[in-house]
Amino acid sequence: MTVQIIDGKTIAESLKAKIKIQIAERVAKGFVQPGLATILIGEDPASQVYVRSKHRACEEAGIKSIGYNLPADTAQEKIERLIKELNLDISVHGILVQLPLPKNLDEEQILTSVALEKDVDGFHPINIGRLAQKGREPLAIPCTPAGVIYLLKTVLPSLEGKHAVVLGRSNIVGMPVSLLLVRENATVTICHSKTQNLPSVVREADILIAAIGRPEMVRGDWLKPGAVVIDVGVNRVEDPSRERGYRLVGDVAFEEACDIASAITPVPGGVGPMTIAMLLRNTLAAAERLGM
Ligand code: NAP
Repeated sequence: MTVQIIDGKTIAESLKAKIKIQIAERVAKGFVQPGLATILIGEDPASQVYVRSKHRACEEAGIKSIGYNLPADTAQEKIERLIKELNLDISVHGILVQLPLPKNLDEEQILTSVALEKDVDGFHPINIGRLAQKGREPLAIPCTPAGVIYLLKTVLPSLEGKHAVVLGRSNIVGMPVSLLLVRENATVTICHSKTQNLPSVVREADILIAAIGRPEMVRGDWLKPGAVVIDVGVNRVEDPSRERGYRLVGDVAFEEACDIASAITPVPGGVGPMTIAMLLRNTLAAAERLGM
């Protein structure tokens, strides 16, 4: 069987190009440019890279973005005050608080203080609650999980009745992706660090979503032949042959998996670019919803 490599980079580029056109059409009709405010607290290098890429993508798409970079010791009240101001700012349609937050902060309280209609990350407890409830619709769906489903559907238009195994149950990836798969009528098994006999559970999967942050932990012989694999993991492993001294790998041993799976996302170039495309989509949708 020849494995299909799901090219997230190209798929995301084409999605971003469409969003750019939609934004230009809106602006030509006299609507204001969509606006995104990002809040980055602390100096986590990976978060700084992610936020910079988000601003660059906004600029390319025609979204006005403004960044608030605050020191790690910023008081909870000050962050909530800033969010309240942004909630009232009519030039801001989307507010993104970059996670993870420094440990001293109350993440739930901060995410709850973002106006529901400006929650472009989809992490507001009401949005997540609606995602979990039958017949309810969240205003925004978390970006990485939405990107996972989008990529999956490029190879499997219907997920109905498929057995999907999700590795990881985090608030930002594993759990929302599992909820989305249930909405697509897949049968979902959620695995985590306490799951027993992980390889045998994975072997049952028509669809495997790996989001555990463990470099190449899932081996090729764990997979069911013909499985579709979406690898969300982004892990640095030492590589003296690279100038920067490391390379990025996923949670799945890619080469081994290519011999067994029917389709797989690479790392990098798979889910990562989709996260940003989905953020742009959510920001445009928020601007449309706010009617501005
Ligand atoms: P996280 O919050 O650390 O959660 C990891 C999850 O994996 C937890 O549920 C944990 O179980 C589970 N886990 C850890 N070790 C395990 C093991 N040995 N066996 C089974 N389950 C295990 O991580 P995250 O934020 O969800 O991120 C996961 C990965 O995705 C990371 O590599 C991250 O860099 C990547 N990521 C990529 C993007 C993107 O845009 N491409 C976006 C977000 C995250 P417990 O719940 O029991 O602790």
